[in-house]
Amino acid sequence: MTIYKGIHSLIGNTPLVELTHIPIPNKVRIFAKLEYFNPGGSVKDRLGQSLIREAIRDGKISSSGTVIEATAGNTGIGLALAAVGTDIHVICVVPKKFSQEKQILMRALGAEVVNTPTEDGMTGAIAKMKELMNRKSDCWSPGQFANQANPDTYYHTLGPEIERDLQGRIDIFVAGAGTGGTFMGAARYLKEKLPDVKTVICEPEGSILNGGDPGPHRTEGIGMEFLPSYMDPAYFDEIHTISDGEAFSYVDQLTKQEGLLVGSSSGAAFAAAMREAETARKGAHIVTVFPDSSERYLSKGIYEGVEQ
Ligand code: PMP
Repeated sequence: MTIYKGIHSLIGNTPLVELTHIPIPNKVRIFAKLEYFNPGGSVKDRLGQSLIREAIRDGKISSSGTVIEATAGNTGIGLALAAVGTDIHVICVVPKKFSQEKQILMRALGAEVVNTPTEDGMTGAIAKMKELMNRKSDCWSPGQFANQANPDTYYHTLGPEIERDLQGRIDIFVAGAGTGGTFMGAARYLKEKLPDVKTVICEPEGSILNGGDPGPHRTEGIGMEFLPSYMDPAYFDEIHTISDGEAFSYVDQLTKQEGLLVGSSSGAAFAAAMREAETARKGAHIVTVFPDSSERYLSKGIYEGVEQ
């Protein structure tokens, strides 16, 4: 039996599960990396850990400095978790619309949460973060939307894990994009190692990648209002835009048929994987990422048919 030394050593190396009950066309096999097995409950624990390490290692702030970040929530939880056991203070700037569960978890882990108006979106949160930076000393903002460390974290962790888990037998990689860090990092790694892999981004309606206008969506954690600097279209072969209805309907199916308690961005990723399965060769291997759990969206009615 392995005894883990402290919770931080449990970040990453999440399980990969093959879906076995939902009927998939063309005898395609769909595998999902269960990122809610991370100790802070999401794919962004990986980023929080590498950013706090970067802050300390590169002397961006003193050992009792402040990290300020604009976040939809999961990166905030990842940062707050990584800062536990240090004297670093974390301030998360979160648009009001994002789930209360995530904001409560950030506070429980010792972070401060500053809300910005829902209608100002992530752009508003980033502006507020910059304002706070100007007012404080000994502070640093990772700036996940423009920080190469974001995709690099996934290049060095998620990408190699996926290749190892499937022993390189991967035809299609599908992931959602919010900051795009998860997708870009893992897709770049996989394309370098396995040049034949098709890489597919998924986004909600109201995201700009497929040329749409920015707009509201219920699917939480994915969707872009602008193109982050590190997004390189050479690494995406296809973009699927998934409606909220489709994402939430798959959340329901994944829960009832597979026992997977996943959030709406996982439902969207699965919808995109199913679209790919329709045209994939017989028996193809599709691997995707389920970024977090439904438990942090219960108060937002993620299970529409279930009594609150
Ligand atoms: N799903 C959820 C629930 C998230 O919180 C995030 C992070 N924004 C993502 C997907 C997408 O990850 P990334 O920011 O790396 O694109």
